[in-house]
Amino acid sequence: MTTPPVCPACLSDLDPPNVWSDRWRCTRHGDVEPFHEAHASREQVLRSLGRTSRVPVWLPSPMPVHWFVSGVGWAGDERTGAHAAALSVSGPSPVGGPAEMVLVAEAPRIGLGSRLAGLPLADPDRLEERPEAKVEAAGHPTALWPLAAPPDRAAFVGEALGVWLWCVLWPADAALILLEHLVIEDMRDDPRLVDHLLFGATGSHLSAP
Ligand SMILES: [Zn+2]
Repeated sequence: MTTPPVCPACLSDLDPPNVWSDRWRCTRHGDVEPFHEAHASREQVLRSLGRTSRVPVWLPSPMPVHWFVSGVGWAGDERTGAHAAALSVSGPSPVGGPAEMVLVAEAPRIGLGSRLAGLPLADPDRLEERPEAKVEAAGHPTALWPLAAPPDRAAFVGEALGVWLWCVLWPADAALILLEHLVIEDMRDDPRLVDHLLFGATGSHLSAP
């Protein structure tokens, strides 16, 4: 079961495809890839994304100690496949208290990562000159640039396997987790990665404005 699709960029309800157009339409953003968040059967949805997604489905591997999957989302429909895939994970922040991190792989102009990062444009506008963090994505050291996000979060963007890789963390100081050599793998390469995941309470940011 999933929620009715909404706009990935603003979460508004969408006009479904009709006789005039085969695209979903947001009154503010025009034709969009419809955004869904899985509510029941998150594990099944994740496995299915691993088979059908057109973009990487990033999972921390290994997951930080005591962290668990707290949300699965994607933008796209059955006909075209996912053009954005998002995984939310939650657990203890390195500085204490609960933290949440959302990893998004996304084709250009979709607006999901940008909404999570709290930015006005669909794609990163201008990157700082120097990357600030690094993750290992599918075996490659991948630079992440800090973004000017609202103060309640830290947001980074880079490029991996030909599409944007967004990493958004709440609260902002949870970004320290990126200093702990975060390794992420594309579930499409190894569906068995899901076997090792714990699924827990739903996070609060994947479908939050
Ligand atoms: Zn919209």
